[in-house]
Amino acid sequence: MSGPSGAGKTSVMQCVYRRCPVPLVRSVSATTRPPRPGERDGVDYCFLTAEQFRARQERAEFIESFEVFGQGYWYGTLRSTVAAGLEAGKWVVLEIDVQGAERVMQRYADAVTIFLEPGSLAELERRLRGRGTESEEAIERRLKVARRELAAADGYRYRVVNDDRDQAVREISDLLRQEWEKSCHD
Ligand code: 5GP
Repeated sequence: MSGPSGAGKTSVMQCVYRRCPVPLVRSVSATTRPPRPGERDGVDYCFLTAEQFRARQERAEFIESFEVFGQGYWYGTLRSTVAAGLEAGKWVVLEIDVQGAERVMQRYADAVTIFLEPGSLAELERRLRGRGTESEEAIERRLKVARRELAAADGYRYRVVNDDRDQAVREISDLLRQEWEKSCHD
């Protein structure tokens, strides 16, 4: 699952986890970004120092890892997290950027890929500013990355527009349920 920062991935997916009948588990990514107020280690992210992150990269512990906003902060999906979810019989949801998703698509050809897009770039900018957590410079950088990410949307199996959250939650839950049922018959 990808979508530009501010497209509403986190809040849409929180509802999907509650409502979707498919056994889903969110993969908790590792990051070197400092925690935002209210974020919990091991729940929102596994917060690592740059040294800890690099050591884990060297031990090939990531399925994919990228510096997402060119600001020195790394994000990555831990192999152990995904393996634990799959072993528990769940579908593991990766909420990751387009570079990471591309890597995952190369390795897991049967992955169900979804791109969540904002109604418009203006809407995205409004959400990013409304969050009040980022500096002007960080917002500009995120908008630049957003334009690049939107251009990659066609590479995903599904595209969902988040101009109405309930509708987006329904669409994602339905498509996951259909994919799940299909996989049970394969
Ligand atoms: P934030 O700093 O707002 O929590 O996350 C910024 C972006 O990082 C998200 O929009 C998401 O796409 C990306 N991201 C989060 N976790 C991962 C990850 O494990 N791998 C990759 N490649 N991107 C991630």
